[in-house]
Amino acid sequence: MSKPSELNDLLRVLRERYQNELPAKLAEIESLLGVLRAGQSPVQDDVHKLHRLVHGLTGSGATFGMSALSDTARQLEVTIKELLQSNEFNLPAEMLDRITVKWLDVKSAAIRPDVVPANVADSSGTERTGFGAGAVDKGEGANLLLLERDAEQARSMQQQLANFGYRVKVLHDASLPAGALAGLSPVAIIRDAAFAEAEAGGGSENMLAAQAMNNIPQIFISSRGDIESRLAAVRAGADSYFTKPVDIAALVNRLDMLSATMDAEAFKVMIVDDAAPLAAFYAMTLQSAGMETVVVNDPLKVLDVLAEFTPELFLVDMYMPGCSGLELARVIRQQEAYVSTPIVFLSAETDVEKHLEAMQSGADDFLTKPIKPAHLVSAVTSRVQRYRILRSFMVRDGLTGLLNHTKIKEELEAEVLRAQRQKSHLAYAMVDVDMFKNVNDTHGHLAGDRVLKGLSRLLQLRLRKTDVIGRYGGEEFAVILKDTDAASAVAIMEEVRKAFAQVVQHAESGDFSVTFSCGVAAYPDYSSAGELNNAADKALYEAKHAGRNRVAIAPPAAGARG
Ligand code: GH3
Ligand code: MG
Ligand code: MG
Repeated sequence: MSKPSELNDLLRVLRERYQNELPAKLAEIESLLGVLRAGQSPVQDDVHKLHRLVHGLTGSGATFGMSALSDTARQLEVTIKELLQSNEFNLPAEMLDRITVKWLDVKSAAIRPDVVPANVADSSGTERTGFGAGAVDKGEGANLLLLERDAEQARSMQQQLANFGYRVKVLHDASLPAGALAGLSPVAIIRDAAFAEAEAGGGSENMLAAQAMNNIPQIFISSRGDIESRLAAVRAGADSYFTKPVDIAALVNRLDMLSATMDAEAFKVMIVDDAAPLAAFYAMTLQSAGMETVVVNDPLKVLDVLAEFTPELFLVDMYMPGCSGLELARVIRQQEAYVSTPIVFLSAETDVEKHLEAMQSGADDFLTKPIKPAHLVSAVTSRVQRYRILRSFMVRDGLTGLLNHTKIKEELEAEVLRAQRQKSHLAYAMVDVDMFKNVNDTHGHLAGDRVLKGLSRLLQLRLRKTDVIGRYGGEEFAVILKDTDAASAVAIMEEVRKAFAQVVQHAESGDFSVTFSCGVAAYPDYSSAGELNNAADKALYEAKHAGRNRVAIAPPAAGARG
């Protein structure tokens, strides 16, 4: 067995080589698909070849740190298989559409390697430095490239997207100096369709070809909504199409989806195996797929480690000295926080009886040793994903994805206790959208929903990752700002308030803007979750009363003596 560092290097080399070879593989598939699209009745061999190439992506992506690629390729493979089995090579248009759509997914997945822990590490260490422009921590906002001739429209979009944390680089014409895009790596390219037409004759083909090769998703915007224009955009490589005036909320929705995989936090896995080299190998395999791992060689140490590392899955060896995997599973299940966390056994055991016994102690599944790295990665990935979804149903609000009422109240209780222990500050802000009933009445409930989603996203982007955000009810939100005193919290919420008021909301009935009011209370001025809640609510009422679209602070003295 190699030393861990050597193995790690090897995995990295393999991964880089895979990613370097990927564009050529994608190009080959693209050209085969071109044959299908052109409607020349494809020879059976071509479809078989297509299947083989796509199957290759399915099997290899996850192993080399690209699990989204594996997943999307698998979907595409299913459709191609249907085609193979139907023996019907005169492609019906409907099937061609399905294949095209899935192929677009594969292409956008191909630019999204799984998150490597080092890249997402530690947002908690970021300090707020002041409260001037840009003082609110927006994190590493994603980059966008906007190709738009109309300077006024470009500026307006740039500003609005900035409110959602996107950094937009605008190009007014296609004459791009070589290397201008180096280091930009945009999440997407937004192109005015007219821009695309004008440049078709010009010298920008190289640039666009380069983008296509990089598989950067392209979003077209156009003043025309007819089918010819849309079709032209699809042929020019569009992944999405928006008509002007662009509905920023819908556009941001799309952009968020494109950047979601980049943002996603790494899966956290605890590996418990007394065989150190084997455990290290599993750890490296999972790390190479972007996961965060912790290895425990002595099962009796598991509880200690759990105090610092909260896994989303346990990978447990069946036979260990001191404590068997079965026993360990029971102990883990006795911890309230881990009642539903997946436990997967690794063993050479093929005896069904033994497997059943393990299931009864709370294990979710078995992986039989020896296990192939790709299989390990996909088994862990699918279980952690399912776990995340299940868990999110319990604590998240369906419309906005923020913490729900129950959960945010729980969090406030916990954070107040922590602040007491650490003798630190804590601010609690309640936000209520102004005259929201009017928005619904004038522009419809759907437009209202979009406003709420937009506000939730703005809060997520403008606040620190460590801040806790919830949807308290209908059009009310609550925010817990850790290590923040009342004055700072007011300054932060003021920034958010101004940004929100600037967002141009779109509805069929016309453009409009919306504001919110906010009440802030802080610990230790108010010393319990209940008091904070009442005080913030009262301050919110004051803000409404004083004319709305403002942030009010609860008077410090009142609650201190409670
Ligand atoms: P104020 O400035 O005093 O807060 O006025 P308001 O109109 O916002 O307050 P009010 O409490 O009278 O109305 C809140 C409205 O929010 C009523 C309700 O229909 C609407 N609402 C609550 N939840 C949702 C939702 O999920 N979607 C939509 N579209 N509307 C919602
Ligand atoms: Mg309300
Ligand atoms: Mg309201």
